Amino acid sequence: MTQQWDVLIAGGGVVGASIARELSRYDLKTALVEANSDLALGTSGANSGIVHAGYDAMPGTLMAELNVRGNAMYPELCRKLEIPFEPIGSLVLAFDEEDEKTIQKLYDRGQVNGVPELKILSAEEVKAMEPHVTETVRGALYAPTAGVVSPYEATIAIAENAAENGVSFYLEHPVTAVRKTEDGFVVTAGGEEFACKILINCCGVHAHELSQMAGGEPFKVTGRKGEYILYDKNLGGYVSHVLFQPPSKMGKGILVTQTAEGNMLIGPSSMDVDDIDDTATTQEGLDGVLVTARRSCPELPAGGAITTFAGMRAVIGDDFIIRYSDMVDGLLQTAGICSPGLTAAPAIAEKVAALVGERLTLKAKENWKDTREGIPPFNKLDWDARQKLIEQDPAYARMVCRCETVTEGQIVKALHSPIPVYTIDGVKRRCRAGMGRCQGSFCTPRVMDIIARESGIPFAEISKNGPDAKLITGTLKGGAAE
Ligand SMILES: Cc1cc2nc3c(=O)[nH]c(=O)nc-3n(C[C@H](O)[C@H](O)[C@H](O)COP(=O)(O)OP(=O)(O)OC[C@H]3O[C@@H](n4cnc5c(N)ncnc54)[C@H](O)[C@@H]3O)c2cc1C
Repeated sequence: MTQQWDVLIAGGGVVGASIARELSRYDLKTALVEANSDLALGTSGANSGIVHAGYDAMPGTLMAELNVRGNAMYPELCRKLEIPFEPIGSLVLAFDEEDEKTIQKLYDRGQVNGVPELKILSAEEVKAMEPHVTETVRGALYAPTAGVVSPYEATIAIAENAAENGVSFYLEHPVTAVRKTEDGFVVTAGGEEFACKILINCCGVHAHELSQMAGGEPFKVTGRKGEYILYDKNLGGYVSHVLFQPPSKMGKGILVTQTAEGNMLIGPSSMDVDDIDDTATTQEGLDGVLVTARRSCPELPAGGAITTFAGMRAVIGDDFIIRYSDMVDGLLQTAGICSPGLTAAPAIAEKVAALVGERLTLKAKENWKDTREGIPPFNKLDWDARQKLIEQDPAYARMVCRCETVTEGQIVKALHSPIPVYTIDGVKRRCRAGMGRCQGSFCTPRVMDIIARESGIPFAEISKNGPDAKLITGTLKGGAAE
């Protein structure tokens, strides 16, 4: 049976999720279809997690406008949706005379873009703020309004808030065909048919494929891979701001930062690749990240890394594409949303909602809920707060992930969230079980037990992150796994 929707969003990254939340303010029937088994498994789950201040984008571009607006929206958004966010500020370091000219240019651009509180600092000021920074630093551009956010937790939280406000989410529903009708589209996703008046393309590095299926413009997406090294939390305070190097044509350069959760992160590399789905890390890429990061902090350790990962930038030209297709009526394109797309996402969503409003009546809901209750971060609570939780539910007294101090109570809450996901990575990205030093070596079987109990899925069927990624292949004695 074909389901009828006003708006169908294809793609559950931060852009699709933010648009879903923005549209959930209005009396519209909205659904989101996502190819993967969870939200934020594309670029939105593998990036630097920086809420950029907005001095980097060229004045007059959508990137500049939406970056600055998005940056201003983040603190309140994160407070309301209980998203990990730290407004730590950023420094673009200058190492030579050329760099000093570059940071002056960025400062001037920031003024035009409307970035507040920018300041050029002397070498002494930078060294006082960052004791591990190179002796050769000559100054820096300081942007106090930059911050760090957990990108996948942000995407999930935004989507959950949209779901609580009535948007329907369909995971493991890749769009495979789009048929134009008189008043919209019939979209085939996950073998089901969704009729909609407006189809919004939020497919990230695959935006050109969705566009082509719908009869829209033939974008040429360049995939630009960025590799990272993530360190243990004992190095989390190594730097206290985001340390950038001067940007180049290939991106914002290699940064050294603490993450919103208190790890240290270095990266990303920047390499154009043919395979837009290739997010494997490489020895060469990671070596380059470490060597370049040491320009900023020469004593940066090689040991202490707990994992590596890579993300894929979707580059189409020099600016975001956010507009109705010129070629097919009712297809709303968001494409080429590379950096600073995470920062800009809430502002992109406002812009898209205005475009939807040009075609459909936007009647505000009276009972729209702008807050979302997160999972209690047990490791950040004081003893009294922990005790209170345990009194409410003894499952909070049972420790499952020792590295990140995650309790059974948190895992159960993650499994009963507004968009339930029953994978090991789904649990990990919602409450951090398996995110720590041992990367799940100890807690994975226990997490699987809890998933099996709460979901009714047989233990052997539980996957890491989707149907093709099951951990159990059989029993040691050759019997069937249960
Ligand atoms: C290395 C790197 C570092 C970055 N650092 C930052 C940063 O620090 N700050 C910042 O602001 N921005 C940063 N960005 C940019 C930011 O991550 C992206 O702009 C943002 O995540 C894009 O979100 P999206 O929703 O458009 O794409 P995605 O997150 O990729 O989402 C697209 C979704 O569409 C789904 N999809 C694809 N095809 C289909 C289909 N046929 N049917 C259904 N679903 C489909 C995919 O599975 C995916 O979930 C960085 C990017 C990279 C790669």
